[in-house]
Amino acid sequence: MTVRLWGVRGSFPVPGTDTAKYGGNTSCIEVTAEGLPTVVFDCGTGARKLGPTLFAREQRELHIVFTHFHMDHLFGFPFFAPVFAPSFEITVTAPAFNPDGTRDRIARFLNGIFHPVRMSEVPAKVQFAAVRPGHSFSCGPWELKAAALNHPGGACAYRIERNGRAMVYITDTAPLSRPGEGLAGGGEPTGRELQLVELCEGADLVIFDTMFSLNEYLEKMTWGHSYPEYAYELCKVARVKKLLLFHHAPDASDSELDALAVHWASAQEPVVELAREGMEIVLEGP
Ligand SMILES: [Zn+2]
Ligand SMILES: [Zn+2]
Repeated sequence: MTVRLWGVRGSFPVPGTDTAKYGGNTSCIEVTAEGLPTVVFDCGTGARKLGPTLFAREQRELHIVFTHFHMDHLFGFPFFAPVFAPSFEITVTAPAFNPDGTRDRIARFLNGIFHPVRMSEVPAKVQFAAVRPGHSFSCGPWELKAAALNHPGGACAYRIERNGRAMVYITDTAPLSRPGEGLAGGGEPTGRELQLVELCEGADLVIFDTMFSLNEYLEKMTWGHSYPEYAYELCKVARVKKLLLFHHAPDASDSELDALAVHWASAQEPVVELAREGMEIVLEGP
């Protein structure tokens, strides 16, 4: 299983010289494995560059899984080339009560007002599916699990596995415990926090929204984003091998993110790195 990061920025795309190293595109992650259809998590602006590369693969079956529909995770969808190719068979899965709910949410964006193309005019064969937190679901031959996150309007975390290797994608979310409680307070996880720990259990790679510092989180607790110490604590309890800090703040410059990387460079169990656009992680072997 190979994980490629096409967009790692949170909230708003920020091209420019001071974001060139970590990248300015918003959330988009590609997961591939030999002979299996590609799974794409979120279609932020990073999806635009991913699109053309998928034509080189033989597979025309494609799965797009949304964590939620905030614009930074959706804006790349109508700029994602396979959507405009009649040869592609795309299944779009998202947290919703039913497949029509998933379709309706995208159709509200692709309605001829916010983008010239309407969902009903999209050339690819697109079908829709819904996922509920706490449940397993399949994307063709892939088996995934979902867990609820703490974000305005709701969002889902996902675990995907192949040959005993696992990646968990957690964005966007505030900590699942309040300051001083649960893992945030140095205690035991319960409820939804425990469910997220279980989703991460033993994972080789966890990609985690850490857009805020602890102090920023304490000022903006209802905004639905986490901070590195919380992600680290959760991954440590879940015996995760590698944590990637993700959904970088739009204002975070390369030099600020370099400093954050240096701060976490000595972390073990899990190892901590910063997500960077263009990064490729191969999860294989014993
Ligand atoms: Zn976001
Ligand atoms: Zn969001």
